[in-house]
Amino acid sequence: GSKNIGFVGLGNMGGHMATNLMKAGHKLHVFDISKPACDNMAAKGAKVYSKTAELAKNSDFVITMLPNNDIVNASYEEMTADGVNKNTMFIDSSTIDPVLVKSLQERISAKGARFIDAPVSGGVPGAEQATLTFMVGGTEAEYNAVKGVLECMGKRITHCGNYGMGQAAKLANNMMLAISMIGVSEAMNLAMRLGLDPKIFAEIINSSTGRCWASEIYNPVPGVCPTAPANNAYKGGFSTDLITKDLGLASGVATSSNTPIPMGALAHQIYRTLKSKGLGNKDFSVVYDFMKNEN
Ligand code: NAD
Repeated sequence: GSKNIGFVGLGNMGGHMATNLMKAGHKLHVFDISKPACDNMAAKGAKVYSKTAELAKNSDFVITMLPNNDIVNASYEEMTADGVNKNTMFIDSSTIDPVLVKSLQERISAKGARFIDAPVSGGVPGAEQATLTFMVGGTEAEYNAVKGVLECMGKRITHCGNYGMGQAAKLANNMMLAISMIGVSEAMNLAMRLGLDPKIFAEIINSSTGRCWASEIYNPVPGVCPTAPANNAYKGGFSTDLITKDLGLASGVATSSNTPIPMGALAHQIYRTLKSKGLGNKDFSVVYDFMKNEN
């Protein structure tokens, strides 16, 4: 049936996700610090709030889709400082530190409500088409309680384990994505330097052992994948700032778990270099443009 759903963070991902919840017949209660983002949702029929505590009290589920640890933490402080509606289930779909997930879960359950992590993969197209993968960290009962709502925004809803395991899956996946994007960029540049046509070489990779999402769906060389950000001056998509943030989180959990991640660490430094060159707001496939030979 129709639920009251709070949504905080209506950016590149959250705007589409909230829209899909409305399309599925739910009543949306929304907040974002950006007025245009709120106006856009109001025009689609959502109720806009100025106080998230009030938004949460009116919601069966609250979904947060915010940039980073500090903002997620501050947002939950504000939403829950004066107590919570004990029937509210808070779902954070941002990519954040699993340590913060556990701390939020403890603080919110101590107040009597529930909190789980459910980060996503699939990018802005996945958010728009409601085909996201959700990686859920929580109890079996909590997973069953949120599955139906998440299915309005995604097509694969996986129970990864207890609190924080959604983020653990997300961080490991994104570390691999960051590395493979650099690998595809290097290989495309090398092949082109040797005289290969980029489209022909991409066809070879994509029917060979080098095939991956970065080569097939999101190729960093302009002209290879028509819908990839490479064809749009690396605008939109998944920003270098965000992948760098995710690699920083991966690096933190690798350190705390005593895990070697030599390639992940190198990838982190390469994207940080891109940021220092002013490319932080470009799609992360701009790494190809950064390293290609000009002559
Ligand atoms: P975004 O920057 O487009 O959106 C974030 C939104 O949060 C913005 O609209 C911003 O105004 C709003 N915001 C900032 N501070 C706020 C606050 N205090 N209260 C309310 N709203 C606030 O980011 P995005 O691309 O939508 O990503 C959101 C999260 O999802 C990030 O953690 C990111 O790592 C993760 N993610 C992104 C993608 C992707 O492809 N873009 C894919 C998977 C996961």
